[in-house]
Amino acid sequence: MQDQGVVDYFTDNGLSNTVKTMQHPAGEYYKGVTYVSYQGPLEDPYVAAYRHVTGEWLGPFKAGISTLGKTPGKKIDNHGKPAMMIDDLGYIHLIFGGHGGLPEHGVNTLGNTHGGRQIHVVTKNPQDISSWEVLDNISPFGTYSQFVKMDNGDIYYFYRHGAHRSNWVYQKSTDNGRTFAPPVSVLKTKPTTGTKEQPDIHDAWYAWFTKGQGNDIIVTYNYHVCKEPIHDGERHNSYYMEMDTDNKEWSNVKGEKLTTPVTKELADKKTLVANTKDLWTVRGTVRADDEGNPHIIFYMGEHLGLRHGGPKQVNYYRWTGEKWFTAESTDLPVATGDILVSSPDEARLLLAGKKDGNSELTWWNTIDGGKNFKKGEVLYNGEKNGMTTSAILRNAHPNARVIVSEKHKGDFKKMYLIGDNGPIKRLKVEADQLEEY
Ligand code: ZN
Repeated sequence: MQDQGVVDYFTDNGLSNTVKTMQHPAGEYYKGVTYVSYQGPLEDPYVAAYRHVTGEWLGPFKAGISTLGKTPGKKIDNHGKPAMMIDDLGYIHLIFGGHGGLPEHGVNTLGNTHGGRQIHVVTKNPQDISSWEVLDNISPFGTYSQFVKMDNGDIYYFYRHGAHRSNWVYQKSTDNGRTFAPPVSVLKTKPTTGTKEQPDIHDAWYAWFTKGQGNDIIVTYNYHVCKEPIHDGERHNSYYMEMDTDNKEWSNVKGEKLTTPVTKELADKKTLVANTKDLWTVRGTVRADDEGNPHIIFYMGEHLGLRHGGPKQVNYYRWTGEKWFTAESTDLPVATGDILVSSPDEARLLLAGKKDGNSELTWWNTIDGGKNFKKGEVLYNGEKNGMTTSAILRNAHPNARVIVSEKHKGDFKKMYLIGDNGPIKRLKVEADQLEEY
């Protein structure tokens, strides 16, 4: 596909773990243009834009400067990748660069610290990604930025307020991101019973928020057993709850009110989707169908199985109105991705992962409420190269649903914008043509 300098990717300067479902949306379709963001050289945030009518690409432009990624020889942190929000006036915002902040940023009253500094930037002009400025209006301690924008323009900025042992919080803006109300805690970190070998254990969380039906915000999360002195990635279970933004009340899937911040005890009692017992889980994504009921995907495996080749499986759950339904056996590949749902019976999973030794971005569809999944269109085949995907972009155009990264040279990745016609091509851009490369 390299005819006359036309390539499938829009840039090859994605760095390391450059997009993920966690930090989201990573891009948005807005007034005929798809805007995309990712982690580029030196862990700085980059933005490119694709004008659908003319087929023209703009950028990538460097949108800000992260404090991560500036120490030569230091391991790439990868936690500061950007999330994007376009406000009602057309200004494009990114929040990036944080991995819990540092003691030099002050006292973190809602958790601990680790590194980086969370930074908010906005374009100087509407719909113009060529120039950016910093807005000093958010906590430096954030990481895992997520934006939920409501139909009335209210912006909810969700994040973990520090390193592992920190509450998950949101800050609300009603003025297009120019100011934010103070953080409100949603999920609580706290010490729990330790053992002789691991005397210091805290409840901790990984969460993924998005807009539900109407004025609701929905979230899926899993539980991290944060142990010291021997720390590992142990995470279990899947949980779900929702917030009615009209009255700021949280409730479980049955509509029972919850006191926030939600503790481990309350989560187990009221919000559990799946108890995975000894099996570990990797947080997934959630979307609401047209009846407002959630559909959730995540994957699970044996202890240390997640990155070490043990057996794993992808789980799909949906709330029927009465109970959580899950397919007993599923043909789904072990992969990460996102969900599009319409009716309760019809869900489409867009998953990036390996199947039969090939990396694919593929639709997996059910029309019987998850009893069976059939492989649909392969949108991109990366052959032997590993790939990662963003969550589905906000207001995504069918031709530009997700951002995908694929191994290139060393730590660098080729970056693709992919939709129902496959990757959106562009004329190859030489590095010296990009001012901000
Ligand atoms: Zn931990």
